[in-house]
Formats: sequence, C-alpha cells, structure tokens
Amino acid sequence: MNKKYDVIIIGAGISGCAVAWKLARYNLDILLLEKEADVATGTTKANTAIMHAGYNADPDKLKGRLNVKGNEEIREVSKKLNIPYKEIGSLVVGLEDDDLSVIDELYQKGLKNNVKNMEIVDREWLLEHEPNISKKAVKALWAPTAGVITPWEAALAMAQNAVANGAEVKLETAVEDVLVDEGRVIGVKTNQGDFAADYVVNAAGLYADEIARMVGIEKINITPRKGEYYIYDHAKDFEVNHVVFPVPTPISKGIVVTPTVENNLLIGPTSHNVESKTDLATTREGLKEVYNGAKKLYPELDLRDTIRVFAGLRAADDTEDFVIEAAENVKGFVNVAGIQSPGLASSTAIAGYTADILKDEGLILSEKKDFIETREEPVRFYEMSNTERAKMVDQNKDYGQIICRCETVSYKEILDAINGPVGARTVNAVKRRTRAGAGRCQGGFCGPRVVDILAEQLGIDPTEVKQEEGNSQILEYKIKELLGSRVMNNA
Ligand SMILES: Cc1cc2nc3c(=O)[nH]c(=O)nc-3n(C[C@H](O)[C@H](O)[C@H](O)COP(=O)(O)OP(=O)(O)OC[C@H]3O[C@@H](n4cnc5c(N)ncnc54)[C@H](O)[C@@H]3O)c2cc1C
Repeated sequence: MNKKYDVIIIGAGISGCAVAWKLARYNLDILLLEKEADVATGTTKANTAIMHAGYNADPDKLKGRLNVKGNEEIREVSKKLNIPYKEIGSLVVGLEDDDLSVIDELYQKGLKNNVKNMEIVDREWLLEHEPNISKKAVKALWAPTAGVITPWEAALAMAQNAVANGAEVKLETAVEDVLVDEGRVIGVKTNQGDFAADYVVNAAGLYADEIARMVGIEKINITPRKGEYYIYDHAKDFEVNHVVFPVPTPISKGIVVTPTVENNLLIGPTSHNVESKTDLATTREGLKEVYNGAKKLYPELDLRDTIRVFAGLRAADDTEDFVIEAAENVKGFVNVAGIQSPGLASSTAIAGYTADILKDEGLILSEKKDFIETREEPVRFYEMSNTERAKMVDQNKDYGQIICRCETVSYKEILDAINGPVGARTVNAVKRRTRAGAGRCQGGFCGPRVVDILAEQLGIDPTEVKQEEGNSQILEYKIKELLGSRVMNNA
C-alpha cells in the first residue's frame, strides 16, 4: 500500500472538489481521486451553471436546505477563490393565468427556505427589465439572489486551493474497489495501486451507486437524466438580462434562457431519463424541444449564432434528493450521492454538511494556522483593455502571441494552464482553463496549436494528446511517417 491518508475523496466534480477544499483547512492528509484526465469532466462540465436562489426544493428536503446556504456562501467564496460569478437574478415567468398559482407556491416555498428579497413582479416590470420577453407574460417570481457561475472553474479553483493547502489530486486514477476490514473502511483499490485512508467520501456522481455497492450499500440507485442545450456566440445581439425560467414541472425547472458568465446565451435543458451513464448524445427531438421551449419565453429568438449543442446527465437518485450520509454498515464511509440540481448552487454547503458528518464519525477537524484562503486570479486576457494587454506584453512577450483569436487567448495563458497547479493535460482541459476553443470557430483555428503546445510542455508526442477522456487522441499518425511508409511500400 502507498502512503496512508486521513481522507480519500472519490470523484473530482464540484462535490468532491468542494469537500477537498473544505477539509484542506484542517490538519488532515487528503487525497482526491479522479478517473478522468481532469477535474470537472462529469456532470460538472455540462449544466445550466445557475446559482439557484433556493425556492424550488421543499424545505424538508436536503436540497431545499443546502441550496440557500450554498447560494449565500458563494458571494464570499467566489471573491476569495476568484471564481467568475455574476449575480443577475432569476425570473420564473407565468405565461397563462394557470401559472400564477405555481408562482405563488414557489414564492411560499422560497419564504420557508429563507430565500431573501423575492418579489412577485407584474407584466410592466417584466417588459421594462426583459424587453424581449413574450407579450403573453403575466407575472413572474423575481429572485435577485440567483446568479450564474463558471462551474468547471469553480471546481478547479477549489481543487487548486486544496492543493495549495497540502491536499493531493490524482487524475486518471479510477477507484475499482473500496477496502474494508472488520467493518471499517481502510482505503481504496485503484488502477494506479492501493491507497490507505481512515475515511472515504464517495462523490462519484453518476457512478456513486456503483461505488456504494462496493461496500454493500444497495439503496442508492442513480438514473442518468439527460439535459440538452444550445449555446450561442457571445457576439449574439439579443437582450436577455436574467436567468429566465418558465414555471417548473414536477421533475424539471423547464427550458431556461440565460446569459452565461462570459455572456454567451444558453438555452436548455430537456429532462429525460436515459439508459446509459455515458449517453451524452444530443438528439433532433431534444434540441427541437429546447428551441420550442425557449421560444415560448422569447418568441423572437432564432438559432442563428448558435455555436454548439451539448448534453449533460443529472445523477438522479430514486429519492429525488441529495443522499449525504455516513454508511450504517461500514464505519468511515460517507456517501455524497444523488447530487443533481441544485448541486452546483449547493456545493459549498454540501461540503460543510459532509465535513460535519465526518466529524460525527470521529474525524478530528483542527484548523491549520497557515491556511491559505485565496486563489490567485488567473490572467484573463480577453477581459482586458488594450492598454492593460500592452502592459502584460511588456512584462512577458508570450502574452503577445494570440493562440485563440475568437476568445483572445494568449500563449502565456495556455502555458500557465498546463504548468499551474492541477495543470491541464488535454485540449478540453486547456479550453476549460483559458477559453481557447470556446469561441465561434470552436477550436478550428487554435486546436492544432493547442495540441502542439500540450505535446511540447508535457514532453509527449502530438499523437498522444487527447481531446478529453478515454481514447480521444486527435491525431492518428504523422504525415511524414505516412509518406515515409508509402515511399517504402512503393520502393
Ligand atoms: C442538464 C443539467 C443541468 C443542471 N443545471 C444546474 C444548475 O443550473 N445549477 C445547479 O446548481 N446544478 C445544476 N445541475 C446539477 C449539477 O451540475 C450537479 O449537481 C453537479 O455538477 C454534480 O457534481 P458532482 O461532483 O456530484 O458529480 P460529477 O461532476 O459527475 O463528478 C463526479 C466525478 O466522479 C468521477 N468518478 C466516477 N467514478 C469514479 C471512480 N470509480 N474513480 C474515480 N473517479 C470517479 C467522475 O469522473 C466525475 O468527475 C445540472 C445538471 C444537469 C445534468
């Protein structure tokens, strides 16, 4: 067995990263394990990115309790960790008289959950603040505390802060079994060897039921529930100022129209159970449903300037609630499962709740004297004025070489993304850290350069560079080798 840890966390989505970040302030040896080549490649990379205000879930559900706390905490956390976050507020818009009772129910639920500053606003208010909204709009629930965040950067920032405070992150390390001795967890078996620990936290998202089964817990049952989306170029000139929802259905908050933090317009998601935990395909029917849904709220919205479609999978437990609890049968094992929406909005609160459970289970939480609270802000060249950019180029000429023209990403930012803490190993990991490839041409121009830079910095052959996970290598062979073999074959 390798070194022994106090706590091993399985899964580096927002839940696992938040737990690592929360625990890293205590005198503990922490190991965060992720089966893929980057953090935030599961559900955390494909969702609506809303910090929900907290009026959707019933107050007796864990979702209801943790959402409002997470929403309150994100203001401070986003500042300390330099996570892009915009508090633009949300509207649930009623288009028919029948919707009004649902809006009132949400308002009442929000009051019970202690959501601050909600109001029911009328048509005039709506038309003033959302000029393109449907003329059928009657009333809306306005929740100014809702916002939008960059989910993968939130997870990365927490993982990086945990590392700065001594935690270890091991990527491409898949947990294959949880090791138990005399009713107590003692570690995990992975494809990279065994790791010993006194406590194991299962934050494996869609696979949390399979990890739980490794210690004999059968009651967690995760169904993948797909949500499909369109995303627009940020140059699209169509005014949407808030997170705008229709009235919700029993299993979904409906098709949302919202700006992202980076000002791309996002529409979606659908909500349909699927068989496979890897089925991330978008479908003709799903995308039609998204567009039709969005048009109910914004009849003038068209599909011009959409730059990508994508899908995410919610990890829905049968209880339709978060399942965050210590195992009854195995001491030291804690599940953080069923983290579907509002898992992102609740993430810091989920982490706090998990730390409390670990403490109840006997983990000693003594605060570090030298805990580093902040994360240095990454350079975001695309947000800078020309004068600021010129200053950066004066300091380091690598800022003067623009690799991604759509999003104005410099060579230096890509170098930092690869060589910084929890560095990028794949093309998509570079994209998540810098936005290279996130623009209108979707990497058509900068993709090959990013492959070259990754190969150069990681000391690997360009044919080994992956897009994201599994066998997603981009290049099959070098053209010179192919030509060489042809010359040989013809000889
Ligand atoms: C369509 C959609 C819309 C959503 N919209 C919102 C929203 O607007 N606001 C909001 O608050 N929430 C939203 N959510 C929910 C939110 O995205 C999730 O709650 C959150 O991302 C879950 O994070 P997680 O860390 O629990 O899971 P994940 O992000 O899936 O992370 C789990 C990690 O565990 C890893 N893993 C799995 N098995 C193993 C193993 N054996 N060994 C090692 N690692 C393993 C996976 O690779 C993965 O990285 C939405 C979800 C979807 C799908």
